[in-house]
Amino acid sequence: AALTHSIEEHRICVCVRKRPVNKKELAAKELDVITIPSKDVVMVHEPKQKVDLTRFLENQTFRFDYAFDDSSTNEMVYRFTARPLVETIFERGMATCFAYGQTGSGKTHTMGGDFSGKNQDCSKGIYALAARDVFLMLKKPNYKKLELQVYATFFEIYSGKVFDLLNRKAKLRVLEDGKQQVQVVGLQEREVRCTEDVLKLIEVGNSCRTSGQTSANAHSSRSHAVFQIILRRKGKMHGKFSLIDLAGNERGADTSSADRQTRLEGAEINKSLLALKECIRALGRNQAHTPFRASKLTQVLRDSFIGENSRTCMIATISPGMASCENTLNTLRYANR
Ligand code: ADP
Ligand code: MG
Repeated sequence: AALTHSIEEHRICVCVRKRPVNKKELAAKELDVITIPSKDVVMVHEPKQKVDLTRFLENQTFRFDYAFDDSSTNEMVYRFTARPLVETIFERGMATCFAYGQTGSGKTHTMGGDFSGKNQDCSKGIYALAARDVFLMLKKPNYKKLELQVYATFFEIYSGKVFDLLNRKAKLRVLEDGKQQVQVVGLQEREVRCTEDVLKLIEVGNSCRTSGQTSANAHSSRSHAVFQIILRRKGKMHGKFSLIDLAGNERGADTSSADRQTRLEGAEINKSLLALKECIRALGRNQAHTPFRASKLTQVLRDSFIGENSRTCMIATISPGMASCENTLNTLRYANR
């Protein structure tokens, strides 16, 4: 048991990030129900009522590898989550980093950067920060001599279908060959030579992701976005870093919606988030069987869940307001598992 535990610790890192109270919550005088008393503890103070109608706060405590409070920056979150995984892909490994949480809790802010208002700035998101460090690492003598090339892909999984964000949302097929290799047929893999190149691709992909949406969150909250940095040596894969902005986890509850399409999407999101949890658990236990076929998301990430040198990190994002309490508890329970 001790051995299993140490493997798990080494391979999986789970963190929580609390978003600052926003204008809307402030205007509604919404209570901030989250405290982070130390760097690895999150407390939820849930307002409740006794039978005699007296009110009280029910406190629940969760412990993670790291807990980031609302004063933390993307750079700080990055340093303790994705940063250590950059090394992994240079050492021929597979790395994944997920942002998991309710819509509006800060997943896209954390992964993609700041897209609020007119000043779209993706240079401070984890996609860009990871890319920056990949190019720094390439210059180290040990890695320089490998003559690695860097490529990027950016795609979206929506209702169990894959769309290329670097190719006008072209719908792509996913194939599994006889050797159980999974291939996304025709996925654009663009060579990138510097951080600037990567920033341009993130911008292209993001505008593609949000184009044609009536409200900014309508579609992106129902889809998973996958940004990958791939290292190749003489054409062969050396390492791969997948950075994923997951669909809003509250969407899994849409299964009772009156609208059929919304219901189906909700069921699909539920299925993929459950499958993801099981695959990460299998990775932590060094389990022989990984149930990656249970969803499109886990299927396309198959090679990241198997293999000796696979590592993953989950950033669970939470909103501070009382109105989000139930979703926040769901997020924390999921991350805890
Ligand atoms: P999600 O992708 O989870 O739906 P967003 O990343 O779009 O959520 O965040 C919702 C809003 O909150 C955005 O306007 C974003 O800029 C803001 N926001 C999220 N996290 C932070 C943070 N840590 N600091 C400042 N603003 C944030
Ligand atoms: Mg988002």
